[in-house]
Amino acid sequence: MSTEAVHAGEMHDPSGSHIDPVHMTSTYVFEDSDAIKSWGSGESGAHVYSRVGNANRDALASKLAALEGYGMEGPVAAEIFGSGMGAVSSAILGFTGSGDHIVAQSVLYGTTNHLVNEVLPKYGITTSRVPLLEPAMLDEELSENPNTKVVYIETPANPTMSVIDIARTVEVAKSHGTSVVVDNTFATPVLQRPLSLGADVVVHSTTKFINGHGTVIGGALVSRDPDFVENGGGALVRYMGAVPSALDCWLTSIGLKSLPLRMREHCSNARALADFLEGHPKVARTHYPGLESHPQHEVAALQMDDFGAMISIELEDFDSACRFMDGLSMCSLAVSLGNVDTLVQHPASMTHRLMSEEDRKAVGITEGMVRISVGIEDSQDIISDFEGALSGI
Ligand SMILES: *Cc1c(COP(=O)(O)O)cnc(C)c1O
Repeated sequence: MSTEAVHAGEMHDPSGSHIDPVHMTSTYVFEDSDAIKSWGSGESGAHVYSRVGNANRDALASKLAALEGYGMEGPVAAEIFGSGMGAVSSAILGFTGSGDHIVAQSVLYGTTNHLVNEVLPKYGITTSRVPLLEPAMLDEELSENPNTKVVYIETPANPTMSVIDIARTVEVAKSHGTSVVVDNTFATPVLQRPLSLGADVVVHSTTKFINGHGTVIGGALVSRDPDFVENGGGALVRYMGAVPSALDCWLTSIGLKSLPLRMREHCSNARALADFLEGHPKVARTHYPGLESHPQHEVAALQMDDFGAMISIELEDFDSACRFMDGLSMCSLAVSLGNVDTLVQHPASMTHRLMSEEDRKAVGITEGMVRISVGIEDSQDIISDFEGALSGI
């Protein structure tokens, strides 16, 4: 996989430049009318206009498709978007229309939550929630809503780190003829490949681990069905216009090359920090799929190659969370995740502030919860920063 990450999709420019140039152009020149005819008949794969396609976007799409389809038989295709939400909304809209229904788990990324609760209903697409997509409940929900077109999964889920059994969910969804979309942002294809477990579509916020360096907002949609990428959900990038710039694709491709290497370091640092936090008297609970105390630890061990770098902890209350955050010196207070540096944020007042307090409570987002995206600094420096901040609360 490390080899694929480095080499897949790479272009070697005829000028001899080792790294492909950034193709910052809106339109493409045709040599003559024959070139137009050959493009029109599909004979040449020429680019014509950068909203429709661009060399840097194609290169990133090939690299990501190679990683999500790693070890699989058959084609896997990808389209790149200007943001993770561009990919999430296009994946859902690619399967649904007015009068259709979606079933999702109860905890979702804040903006996805808003999309399915507030935005899609305006267009006649309704949603219901099943905690952890528990199979018997999911089966019942799908029987009650035969117009369900998508089961939407996010695992591990933000910010509670709940883990959903992808293969079991796919099995139940397929028995009702329903498609499955998985947001694989937290795990990345290095740790979890949902398409190989039967999911139809994977979506990403490439803003996070895939880029890894915090320089770009971006997204991707990956599928085992090239037609869905070409003419279904993937094609919405052209019609809705959530298009990435060539420079953003170029930066993301460079980041993606070191993803397998970075994930090894992210995961081993997260494990060390989680062990430290779980034993700390001021931390009421530590949510990390790699801990045996995590309620879905066994499912995580089965479907993931390692447990990722996202941890959330519960401190006593809002004030202790604030004192803890104010006591950190190296780690940054910031939303987003998956960067090389450790980022800490407070879901109730930041990523999930638009949810009502009641809704937050129902899904386990407490006022004292702090979410951590563990970076690739030396683990002892991360632990020391946390030790100092916890001693001051
Ligand atoms: C960040 C994120 C998104 C949204 O991606 P953007 O790039 O911010 O649009 C969706 N899902 C998850 C799990 C995320 O972390």
